[in-house]
Amino acid sequence: MNVPPPITPEFLTLPRKAAEGGCASLVGLSREAMRAALIDAGTPEPQATMRVGQIWQWIYHRGACDFDGMTNLARPYRELLAAHFTIERPEIVTRQISADGTRKYLLRIAGGHEIETVYIPETDRGTLCVSSQVGCTLTCSFCHTGTQRLVRNLTAAEIVGQIMVARDDIGDWGRKPDEKRLVSNLVLMGMGEPLYNFDAVRDAMKIAMDSEGIALSRRRITLSTSGVAPEIARVGQEIGCLLAISFHATTDPVRDQLVPINRKWNIAELLDACRAYPRLSNAERITFEYVMLKGVNDSDADARRLVKLIAGIPAKINLIPFNPWPGSPYERSDAERIEAFGHIVNRAGYASPVRTPRGEDIMAACGQLKSATERVRRAARAS
Ligand code: SAH
Ligand code: SF4
Repeated sequence: MNVPPPITPEFLTLPRKAAEGGCASLVGLSREAMRAALIDAGTPEPQATMRVGQIWQWIYHRGACDFDGMTNLARPYRELLAAHFTIERPEIVTRQISADGTRKYLLRIAGGHEIETVYIPETDRGTLCVSSQVGCTLTCSFCHTGTQRLVRNLTAAEIVGQIMVARDDIGDWGRKPDEKRLVSNLVLMGMGEPLYNFDAVRDAMKIAMDSEGIALSRRRITLSTSGVAPEIARVGQEIGCLLAISFHATTDPVRDQLVPINRKWNIAELLDACRAYPRLSNAERITFEYVMLKGVNDSDADARRLVKLIAGIPAKINLIPFNPWPGSPYERSDAERIEAFGHIVNRAGYASPVRTPRGEDIMAACGQLKSATERVRRAARAS
């Protein structure tokens, strides 16, 4: 009898084509890994570093989707590459465009899993909100992603793949250094807790920052964490991007309810890690994200406690009006309450921008991401 092989976690993390027995995608490999792969495929070793440089430019600067167009490579070499590799990205299952121009992509990755990526155009920038996991193991009570049961870490290739897909779709390749870029900023604020998938996130961000390719400055990348305190210093040391903390409460009992990881690393431990954050300065402040939940964390006393707690940390406070999802247990604070809260924070010397919800009509706003198959499964269970 022909018994299919068991599905192991290793199998699930292979690039899609490789998992299906075809060629592996070069997208998402580090320069060193690409060099080794090219040598394995028959590239003479003395040429390998130069070949990586050429292919890297085609993939990450020009957005090449196949080897045919790589005109500075001899035809036989292009054929050799095509026989061993692809430049495949994750597959787009659906693309929704909001009335405000926000685009939400549902992408399929190896193992049939689905993730969401959101592109948010603004006048002065274009931000891509990238996922780091399928779902999330944490269960913040106000977040839709936290209700998704199916969870796995994304590979670096799958994280980079989200950038490739969005840039393909909006036509953002091959721009000159002085040209406006459509994806100018990245935020690790999609599905998942990036610090529970540190190595893949770091490797993917290294590719995003590489100056011969996507070339995003480290100061245009923001990683948001719910508070994995022991990993926070590594963000500064190994990635060097900006840091955002999902703070959301000013007492441990309330934060325990909203952000359950607080039971592991409480407010004091989290703030100690913030104070010790490498590179912390007025030019590179930490963003404290604060979701405004009616009657839960939005009082004047909360605002006063908040500024006391973060005293001495170069910071700005990003007030996020709660984005509801079907069955969510909270309500958004009124606009006047958010304004009064922001006023107290402002008077204490902190910038307190209110984050305008984007793409609400397509469930693309902060905390609303949850894969479509998971939603369908849940609906089926409920019916
Ligand atoms: N897991 C990481 C990053 C993804 S969440 C983290 O928690 O930081 C990105 C931001 O959206 C976080 O600040 C998160 O707390 C916030 N968020 C989650 N659900 C939300 C909701 N329903 N409304 C508004 N913001 C939400
Ligand atoms: Fe996970 Fe962040 Fe959502 Fe919490 S807010 S459940 S950490 S994605």
